[in-house]
Amino acid sequence: MEDCIFCKIINKEIPSSIIYEDENVIAFNDINPIAKIHILVVPKKHILDLTCVDSDETLNQINYAIKEITKTNGMDKDGFRVITNIGKNGGQAVPHLHFHVLGGEILPTR
Ligand code: AMP
Ligand code: ZN
Repeated sequence: MEDCIFCKIINKEIPSSIIYEDENVIAFNDINPIAKIHILVVPKKHILDLTCVDSDETLNQINYAIKEITKTNGMDKDGFRVITNIGKNGGQAVPHLHFHVLGGEILPTR
């Protein structure tokens, strides 16, 4: 989608620190990390947010990517957090579905 920063990253029109990519999903380091490990896992298809997902396949593809990524950096053993923000009150700044995967030293939020 035009003017979508994550679509531009997916299309390699702007640089990012990509750590995982397959046919359906891309993952890169968050430019403004809030944890020691802060990765964004993003479906290549432009979907606004989680409520707009209309197929289990998309969620399975994202979950597969998260499992592959967390295997490579020990997070599968140590644990991690997955967050997706939805809309203005949910704190969503980028209107393309993405999952924050946080690992390492995560400050407890509740
Ligand atoms: P959200 O508030 O859930 O929409 O999160 C958007 C996230 O995207 C924020 O954590 C930003 O730091 C991150 N972000 C924005 N632009 C970039 C970029 N060009 N490369 C990597 N991360 C980005
Ligand atoms: Zn997009």
